[in-house]
Amino acid sequence: MNKPLLTYTTKRNILWLFISLIVIYLVFNLFTYLELSYLLEESIDTHLKHELEHISLAMDFYNDSLSIRNTDEFKETDLVEVTQSPFFLKVYNANGKLLFQSDNTKKITKYNVILPNDFQNNYAFKDFDLNGEELRVGFCKVTDNANKLLGIIELATFKSSSKSLANSLMLFNLTTFPFFVLMFIVISYFFVKSSFAPINRIIDLANEISASNISKRLTYEADDNDELGKLKTTLNNLFERLEFQINQIAHFSDNASHQLMTPLTSLKSEIEFLLKQNDFTQLHYESIKILHEQTERMIKIVRTMLILAKESDTCDCVKNIFNLSKLLEEVSKLYNQPHIKFKFGKNIFLRGREDYFLMVLQNLIENAIKYSAENEEILIECNIENQNVMLTVTDNGIGIPEQERGKIFERFYRVSTHENNSKGFGLGLSLVKNIVSKMNGQVTVEPNYPKGSKFIIKLPAVNFE
Ligand code: ADP
Repeated sequence: MNKPLLTYTTKRNILWLFISLIVIYLVFNLFTYLELSYLLEESIDTHLKHELEHISLAMDFYNDSLSIRNTDEFKETDLVEVTQSPFFLKVYNANGKLLFQSDNTKKITKYNVILPNDFQNNYAFKDFDLNGEELRVGFCKVTDNANKLLGIIELATFKSSSKSLANSLMLFNLTTFPFFVLMFIVISYFFVKSSFAPINRIIDLANEISASNISKRLTYEADDNDELGKLKTTLNNLFERLEFQINQIAHFSDNASHQLMTPLTSLKSEIEFLLKQNDFTQLHYESIKILHEQTERMIKIVRTMLILAKESDTCDCVKNIFNLSKLLEEVSKLYNQPHIKFKFGKNIFLRGREDYFLMVLQNLIENAIKYSAENEEILIECNIENQNVMLTVTDNGIGIPEQERGKIFERFYRVSTHENNSKGFGLGLSLVKNIVSKMNGQVTVEPNYPKGSKFIIKLPAVNFE
């Protein structure tokens, strides 16, 4: 099965991390923008306050007029700058009557700010919209020694200079945004991939452990106290318990098989003896025939279990050589039906036990028949390819769901959707796998198109040179 590049969980985590990074980035930028705008605005106020203080020191108020007391002070460079555009200066007496205004304010009729009431320590600030341009206006109360109000000075400047800095920062962030998006995608992808890497390794390692090699354990490096270490210990403990249970079952079934074989064979010979008698009614005869069939079936199962129990039976594969072409010839006679087709080359030899390999062929062909509709074509092919014997049994039957294909070679496993379809114990394919592995080969299954299954056996060909 092809692994998808990104699983659903990986995609979901990448998406979440990406969205989180984008949100953090946007919030951070917005916060920076607001904070910067606030600080710049505050710096305008400080600046205005400073200039207002200077101007107030340079003026003397008389009820309806004012005089510039200290012309030097008034002419200080910064003050001169203030009175020039873009600064606007207005001076009022205590009653709010305008006593003085800089030239630029005279030109702009719309520049008319209402004096505030909420002074704090003699200063007040407010915003003013002048034809769409924002102005920051500062006010300063001028008082005498008895704290009596003499006049009010108003000084305004454009906010645009400070805003433009914050705006250009925002513009910079907006233009670099696609780059950040790209960077966040890459970061999210690699972060999620690398954080899932150890879990994927554990899955692969755990997948390698099956009923046939349950004594294997997870051996990756991990600190016992971290999550991966704990997962390793938990899984290994689980495998430990499973191994114990599987061994118990295997011992029981091996013992039971041995114990059952003797009574079953004597039962079979007794039934065969009975069948040869001719003083039965037809009804009795039919019953005894069924008994005979079922006993043979039981013997077949027990024999299969006994073969499966012989784990170290590999030496025969080295000594014995048999002619597979001849065996296939004989098998083709056993299944001599028009829809069952055999195609094989001559003089193909294998190392191993011929009687066991006959079981392999019979199991695969009988399965192909069992799981196909009547007279559906079944093809058995055998050739030598690259020093390997390739034997395939292809049917056009009901097929095997993808997620079950890896499990059908396990003992007693039957595809859940097939269970009602035919009689069986789920032992045939584990026997096939067992025998083929002992012959140093492999058996695999893949779907046949448009329907059915294809079992492929690959075995080392015998080289007589
Ligand atoms: P069984 O005695 O149940 O056939 P096997 O070990 O031979 O046991 O097969 C295991 C399971 O694999 C079967 O129960 C069946 O669901 C599935 N199977 C085996 N061969 C085929 C096939 N040719 N087509 C469809 N399903 C099959």
